[in-house]
Amino acid sequence: MKIILTHDADSIFKPMEHILARRERFTPKDLKAAEKGSLNLYNNIADIVQLEAELGFQSTLFIPPFLFNLYSIVDTLKTIQREGTELQLHYVHEDHPQYKGLFNIQKSFFNELIGDVRGVRCHNLWVTQSLLDLFKEEWVLYDSSYRSETVERMNPYSLDNGLIEIPIGIMDTDLFGRLHLTENEAWKFILKDLDAAKDHRVEYYTLLFHQESFRMKGGRLYSKLLKHLAKEGFECIRCCDVPLVQDALKKV
Ligand SMILES: [Zn+2]
Repeated sequence: MKIILTHDADSIFKPMEHILARRERFTPKDLKAAEKGSLNLYNNIADIVQLEAELGFQSTLFIPPFLFNLYSIVDTLKTIQREGTELQLHYVHEDHPQYKGLFNIQKSFFNELIGDVRGVRCHNLWVTQSLLDLFKEEWVLYDSSYRSETVERMNPYSLDNGLIEIPIGIMDTDLFGRLHLTENEAWKFILKDLDAAKDHRVEYYTLLFHQESFRMKGGRLYSKLLKHLAKEGFECIRCCDVPLVQDALKKV
């Protein structure tokens, strides 16, 4: 079984008042560094990529033109992209009659700044058939917005409209925001889910951890999980390494 590593970036900065109101989420050491201004707790992109690289892994990072000013991190994005991180579009859907135009604004801006949009993940995993059809019309090759529980499968597959779907095995915010698990409970949950997937001979298992949660209670399990995966000899890959996506890329 191969593990597909993915991250969404929903925010890259929060003011100190916001952080202090949630101080129990962070370690005292990180809080001190944040107060001194030597650490941005909400921008962990470089640290995540470095940890992955140390373990011989690469990941896919979904970047949202509509959630913050991308120019503020464009240098980091270009560097990690050069070094092998896959960057794709984190699309923010608005329930608006001009949603197609709003999609195109996000796609063109991403194209200009980062490169061609080949993959999309919807913010909040808010995906519908009409959005999948829109992605297909707009030359996107794959989507990764469905939970495996929704589509009842783990492996990437082709949708009826020809788009490739890469279902999500586990998302951090489902474990902590929705199930309200402690770190210990979440750790057991993840290991059990990985074991079950292996027993069912799943070939590809997709992880989604938000980059902004890397230093937070809960989200910091990602470092532990990566080290565990390395120790157990798992191969960890990007969405663009999936053979179905590779084949589609060759035809572009
Ligand atoms: Zn998001």
